[in-house]
Amino acid sequence: MPELPEVETVRSQLEQTIVGRRINSVDVRFSGRLNLDSGEFVERLAGRRVLSVGRRSKLLLLRLSGGDVLVVHLKMTGKLLLVNSDCEPGKHTHIIFRLSGNNVLFFDDVRKFGYLHLFRTDDLERLVFGPAKYGPEPLSPDFKLNLFSDCLRKFRRSAIKPLLLSQKCVVGVGNIYADETLWRSGIRPDRLIGTLEANEIRLLHESIRKILRQSVRIGGTSVDSYRDAFGHRGDYERKLEVYGRNGQLCSRCDGLIRKIRLSGRGTHFCPKCQK
Ligand SMILES: [Zn+2]
Repeated sequence: MPELPEVETVRSQLEQTIVGRRINSVDVRFSGRLNLDSGEFVERLAGRRVLSVGRRSKLLLLRLSGGDVLVVHLKMTGKLLLVNSDCEPGKHTHIIFRLSGNNVLFFDDVRKFGYLHLFRTDDLERLVFGPAKYGPEPLSPDFKLNLFSDCLRKFRRSAIKPLLLSQKCVVGVGNIYADETLWRSGIRPDRLIGTLEANEIRLLHESIRKILRQSVRIGGTSVDSYRDAFGHRGDYERKLEVYGRNGQLCSRCDGLIRKIRLSGRGTHFCPKCQK
């Protein structure tokens, strides 16, 4: 599933290519993941201009002229693909946006968990971000060590990895980057938060920033079906230390990477150097 670095990669590519473009027409081929009926969805989008492409957590936010914002969650297998105007849609292309300047944007999704919701910009905080109680963005100055530590202390009896996945103390970290940041910090994914020392929390905070920043720089990870807006794979895959490396040697010690299930999620760690 795309996590922060992958969504950020798509965001920055779309920002460089479609901001200022007008949406000439929209073709809905599968409407099951829209929050409006397809007629209203198409009508509200047609003729609007893309003003900006933002991101909050794993949500892409396309702000449009006229005061609407299109919220896109790629979920497991969703893709926003910029293609040439003569490109044929595939069987998993659910929405086609024809833009000015001969740009076409496909929303493809094999598993159909991804969604596109259209809101008034004024309603965004109340309807989308208010109820979810998202933590801070990891790459923003709001992600401060003392606040992260205070937040973790509220969940002393939770294991650390499920808490990272909950997005409550920091957003954007999913299954891959939770495993990677915990390995980098030397912390077992099933450690109870109440047993973490201040130094370990400091290391974890630092690892989250370092790993996510590095992955954004090289276009994210494509261990699953993720592709960026140009259909390319991310390069972070070759830097993974534990994720998907079950049974292989740890690069830091001579331990063997193990895979367990933790709160229902496949979880990778080194039992020797993660305490
Ligand atoms: Zn190790």
